[in-house]
Amino acid sequence: MGIGISRRDDYKRHSARARKSPRWAAVRFEAKRRDGFRCVSCGTSMRLEVDHKIPVRDAPELAYELSNLQTLCLPCHSRKTKTEVGFGLPTIPGKDAWKKLVKELANPNQSKERLCLNL
Ligand SMILES: [Zn+2]
Repeated sequence: MGIGISRRDDYKRHSARARKSPRWAAVRFEAKRRDGFRCVSCGTSMRLEVDHKIPVRDAPELAYELSNLQTLCLPCHSRKTKTEVGFGLPTIPGKDAWKKLVKELANPNQSKERLCLNL
């Protein structure tokens, strides 16, 4: 990994190269057919994508290897990609607002007026 290139950019660059190839379209279809056109993680048949079990970045020679491919739906796929890239779990929306409310409830005298207004 070069200096100045984030892990995420590095990941995208390798992945994009494999996905541009016409060969990829054929292999991708084979993988989906093998998995019965369902996400192997949650079983849905909506918004399917084909994922490399071992990222292309780590094993370019396995990019078109059926045994290294699995069918995943978009939500499962992006969750996996985020984990691989090292971003961990996404921030839960409203988490900060919840924290603030808990803090205010712990000090009711200070913020009674504000709470009433919010409700
Ligand atoms: Zn899924």
